[in-house]
Amino acid sequence: MSHTVEILSVGTELLLGNIANTDAQMLSQGLSELGLNVFWHTVVGDNPQRAREAVALAKQRADVIITTGGLGPTCDDLTKNVLAEAFGKKLVFDEGSAERIRSYFTRTGRPMTDNNLQQAMLPEGCTILENDWGTAPGCAFEAEGVHVIMLPGPPSECRPMFQYRAKPYLLSLSEGVIASHTIKLFGIGESAMEAQLRDQMNAMSNPTLAPYAKEGECELRVTAKAATSEEAQALLKPTVEQVKKLFHDKVYGVDVPSLEYVVLEALRTKGLTLGTAESCTGGLIAKRLTDIPGASQAFQGGIVSYTNEIKETLLGVPAHMLDRYGAVSREVAAAMAEGARKALNCDIALSSTGVAGPDQDDRGNEVGTMFVAIATTRGTHVRALNLGPRPMRERLRTQTASHAFDLARRYLSGLDCGD
Ligand code: ATP
Repeated sequence: MSHTVEILSVGTELLLGNIANTDAQMLSQGLSELGLNVFWHTVVGDNPQRAREAVALAKQRADVIITTGGLGPTCDDLTKNVLAEAFGKKLVFDEGSAERIRSYFTRTGRPMTDNNLQQAMLPEGCTILENDWGTAPGCAFEAEGVHVIMLPGPPSECRPMFQYRAKPYLLSLSEGVIASHTIKLFGIGESAMEAQLRDQMNAMSNPTLAPYAKEGECELRVTAKAATSEEAQALLKPTVEQVKKLFHDKVYGVDVPSLEYVVLEALRTKGLTLGTAESCTGGLIAKRLTDIPGASQAFQGGIVSYTNEIKETLLGVPAHMLDRYGAVSREVAAAMAEGARKALNCDIALSSTGVAGPDQDDRGNEVGTMFVAIATTRGTHVRALNLGPRPMRERLRTQTASHAFDLARRYLSGLDCGD
């Protein structure tokens, strides 16, 4: 049976916009990995009547309701009261939970007020989800054909409570094994990707195919359910192969963490070294590489050449080139990469130069005009980008760095670098 899930987040701060609903985001990601369909996110303030109405609606349309927040002693146990009432359950005192709450305070050296023990009032007959990361226990029960799971609001509690308490409970609901693979793509927009797969995605039930877009990249998650893990893998394989064939050189990996990881792995395998010369990305390419443990096996170093003076003196970009074409140009991007290859004594060098905004540069280049280049033993390639004008400087820089990695992974896999 395939379950439909509603996430019900309780908290006035969420409605006021004081905090973002990161719990719901985290839960949605985790639930889709389990192959559960999240159909609704609802947010309700700390108001019992509106919470009752939200629960009444959720129980009509979902067969799994997961709540976050409103379990703490300051909220009069709003969530538990409302859910217990909606399903005709009494709240009963659980001595085991009370003991855990007392010992949490002893362990953390904080004084305990009596209202903390309200957190030990739990719906009768529920499965208690012990909270090792805070005081409020979570709980789960089934009633009227609906599974209810209540988790605390603080993300530092909600995340591990989902991972270690709710997930095993949810897995016990599903018979069989759920397995998934994530196919990562670069150089194609989410809508273009979806357009090519929409009919197929709608027609599929096992495996399912779900698209995601993030930071200029796309992902396709293929999820299958079967009696055994071998059977699930056998169901996944043809779809993974088909997607790889369809998107061909846009696919940079399956179940890989990132583009930079793929680049670093290819460098390590081939025994090659890499260096960087960065202007508009300000060291982000080097940062993303060195976030990966063991990067020193292939990453030689980087130069943040922000001014023309540094481009000239450290990278050897000729002054006449900077004068003639400007720092944001195809020619300078190429010269920066070539200069970095020499200066850093590496096999491959990547460079970036562009206008990250918010204003255009003094030569009239628009925000989002970027060039990335790769210099290799077999020549230099430049990719010209027009990413803007988008308001977020950080996003432009992230995407520019990703394009530099994409040039490197294309070169390392023998694909055309297309300049
Ligand atoms: P506590 O025991 O801390 O009272 P609780 O389960 O009652 O926990 P809330 O009081 O609703 O949870 O929220 C506590 C804090 O957790 C909020 O101030 C907020 O910082 C954070 N929080 C709550 N809900 C969410 C959410 N959905 N996403 C992100 N953060 C949240």
